[in-house]
Amino acid sequence: MRFEKLDIAIAGAGIGGLSLAEMLARRGANVVIYDQMAAPQPVGSGFVLQPTGAAVLSHMGLLEKAAERGAVINRMHGKLAGTSKTVLEIGYGKSRHGIAIQRVALFDILLEAAIAAGVTFETSARAVEMNEGERPTIAMEGGRSSHAADLVIDAMGANSPLGHVPAKELGYGALWATVPWPENGPFHPHELEQRYHRASRMAGVLPVGTARDGTPEMATFFWSLRNSDIETWRSAGRAAWIEDVAKMWPETVPFAELAGPVHARYRHHTRKPVAGRRILRIGDAWHATSPQLGQGANMALLDAASLITALEHSASIEDALALHLKQRRLHIWFYQTMSFVMTPFYQSDSRILPVVRDIAIAPTTQLPLMRQLISRLVTGEFLDPVKRIGL
Ligand SMILES: Cc1cc2nc3c(=O)[nH]c(=O)nc-3n(C[C@H](O)[C@H](O)[C@H](O)COP(=O)(O)OP(=O)(O)OC[C@H]3O[C@@H](n4cnc5c(N)ncnc54)[C@H](O)[C@@H]3O)c2cc1C
Repeated sequence: MRFEKLDIAIAGAGIGGLSLAEMLARRGANVVIYDQMAAPQPVGSGFVLQPTGAAVLSHMGLLEKAAERGAVINRMHGKLAGTSKTVLEIGYGKSRHGIAIQRVALFDILLEAAIAAGVTFETSARAVEMNEGERPTIAMEGGRSSHAADLVIDAMGANSPLGHVPAKELGYGALWATVPWPENGPFHPHELEQRYHRASRMAGVLPVGTARDGTPEMATFFWSLRNSDIETWRSAGRAAWIEDVAKMWPETVPFAELAGPVHARYRHHTRKPVAGRRILRIGDAWHATSPQLGQGANMALLDAASLITALEHSASIEDALALHLKQRRLHIWFYQTMSFVMTPFYQSDSRILPVVRDIAIAPTTQLPLMRQLISRLVTGEFLDPVKRIGL
């Protein structure tokens, strides 16, 4: 398709919306992003850019910038709290690695690239509905409407309000905080480290590099918390939390002392990707899940790149949407299923599942073939998603 003739309206300036907008605009399309925020800004702390997401950023010419900001991750390692028993051991292999990056750093890189490519932003634009058709539009709070486009994209994340009842929240969320990385501390600068107590408590430390030039190296500290316990946690106060942290993982007490944690809640859903004629969902609006497998941001990048290659190889928008779904559906189905199955082993009230995890599953993950399979699963590369989208 000729991109110069395309007129695209995107609701949501998150990872999926921004990367799609940049790639479209750089190819000549007219792109407007509508976001509810008063100014575009990131939500959340840090995450691991896997080789899949890195391949998309490389295609966009932005990988070097992301790598400069982030921290190389070559191992993910988890132990039972208070013991030396390893129950999670994932390596990337010799030639591959993840890049742990602060959300604000990736957001800045994507936003700058989108502006440079000519994307227009409309802020304080809260979408409430979409009107399908040959020239679909986004209806906004206060009676505003987007321009009539050739294609409308719902990139509004897991809480997208469009045309559905939101999926129920998962029982567990987590406190997330970005804290200074302790130089010469007990943590490895290239590893995600986790501790578990049954499946009801999980804590983690991830080095995430710098947000901007000259700012200090940081870490993301996370602490799982049942959503129904959030008020009790708040009223108990910081001293009580620090006491819990000291019992579970004493080395992380300095993080809890400094943290200004935000409580994140998760949903699991796979919605219909096509929400109406010429209306497409990408990223978490299509498929949201707990961050247990750490794929969401990478999936949003893959969705965006897949739509681009599909448009490049199709004669009409309808053909492009069909090709895009063919390229992405299997990978999404597989990861949604895996995440749904695995999350309760790490985040639930079950007493049986963590025992199965520690006694039956953990030892098998040390077998050479299993190690390879698990490595491919966690890096997002199972079923070759990058090849599938023809990047
Ligand atoms: C705590 C936590 C940890 C995570 N860790 C990882 C990880 O390690 N690895 C990983 O790959 N993923 C991780 N994820 C998942 C990842 O953050 C998401 O999958 C990813 O951000 C999805 O991108 P998106 O573009 O679909 O949506 P988002 O990035 O959520 O962006 C949605 C955008 O839509 C806007 N918006 C929402 N509603 C409206 C509206 N009504 N009108 C207009 N605009 C609207 C928002 O302001 C926002 O800008 C984590 C998520 C959380 C919450």
